[in-house]
Amino acid sequence: MESVDCVVIGAGVVGLAVARALAQQGREVVILEAENTFGTITSARNSEVIHAGIYYPAGSLKARLCVRGKAMLYDYCASHQIAHQRCGKLIVAASAAQVATLEGIRAKAAANGVDDLRLLSREQALELEPNLQCEAALLSPSTGIVDSHGLMLALLGDAEQAGAMLAVCSPVMTGAVTGDGIVLEVGGDTATTLLARTVVNAAGLTAPELARRIEGMPAAHIPPQFYAKGCYFTLAGRAPFSRLIYPVPEAAGLGVHLTLDLGGQARFGPNVRWIDEIEYGVDPHDADSFYDEVRRYWPALADGALQPGYAGIRPKISGPGEPAADFRIDGPALHGVPGLVHLFGIESPGLTASLAIGETVAAIAQ
Ligand SMILES: Cc1cc2nc3c(=O)[nH]c(=O)nc-3n(C[C@H](O)[C@H](O)[C@H](O)COP(=O)(O)OP(=O)(O)OC[C@H]3O[C@@H](n4cnc5c(N)ncnc54)[C@H](O)[C@@H]3O)c2cc1C
Repeated sequence: MESVDCVVIGAGVVGLAVARALAQQGREVVILEAENTFGTITSARNSEVIHAGIYYPAGSLKARLCVRGKAMLYDYCASHQIAHQRCGKLIVAASAAQVATLEGIRAKAAANGVDDLRLLSREQALELEPNLQCEAALLSPSTGIVDSHGLMLALLGDAEQAGAMLAVCSPVMTGAVTGDGIVLEVGGDTATTLLARTVVNAAGLTAPELARRIEGMPAAHIPPQFYAKGCYFTLAGRAPFSRLIYPVPEAAGLGVHLTLDLGGQARFGPNVRWIDEIEYGVDPHDADSFYDEVRRYWPALADGALQPGYAGIRPKISGPGEPAADFRIDGPALHGVPGLVHLFGIESPGLTASLAIGETVAAIAQ
């Protein structure tokens, strides 16, 4: 049986950021990835937004790691020539009742250390975005967009430069906690058994399921696993806005918002559909509800302009109707298994927070 200091399971943006942080501490790191390359699951199926850190409960991991991760990410993108744009975002109130909500959002953001939001009158908002319909808006200047693939490529490059190794087509099937470390059974073409002193479970959607397959990991500390799918529709033709446009959030999600990619194309979404099995189909009929929602802030949206785009699945650990759970970075201090760290529920803003998550995990993964 081969032995290694650290294994990171999963080469999404979070696993790669963790591997980089561990390798840069001088530790020996092997990244085991089930697919035939890195970053093809949730890290390739999201909005690519660098979130400011506005909505999360004060003091939560989501709030703290988003705000810290955002600052780290902008610096990292600048120093590693990763395509990104600090384009800003407008949160728009469609009615007088929603205007009051904007003030509450600003206060919530300030509690998270995001104190640069500006309340704009209807006229001020229209000066920035002439195609917008709104009563008032909040401008978040620190929101941006990033090339997530470019980011992952840079993280992997840094990790490899510090000695880490990526093994693709290497799904971790089971594990067992022993006195010498954690034994992992790895499947794939070249099935093998590995003994690791430190194991970081960054398996994303299936992280809870994988935790359950590690003998010796107490079940009481493993959260349930839920999937909330989100579909996007793209807009044919030129984007009508140069900033991201979000409606005032209502109920479960952030509302059908408009994001831009670095090529300037607009996409709308994601909606929320709870599903039992992983699948990424986009039902063209879902567009029907998008038209109504989008026309509240962009009445000029023409019939038939939305094309089915792509879908991503949120790795949820709280179910439909429950309040959104915080990120969980569960180390030995919580569950009692030496050397084992689980990352559970790393949904949005996981891309934004990835570097800060890497830093946090490296500090507790001894
Ligand atoms: C619709 C949507 C929109 C989003 N928008 C944003 C956004 O705009 N901004 C933002 O900050 N965040 C956003 N997010 C969140 C962000 O995409 C995720 O937090 C982030 O990509 C999670 O990365 P990850 O590495 O944890 O997971 P993943 O990218 O899913 O990576 C996990 C990896 O583990 C591998 N794996 C799984 N099981 C095993 C196993 N047994 N053995 C080996 N490998 C395994 C998988 O193949 C995969 O490559 C969004 C998410 C969704 C779903």
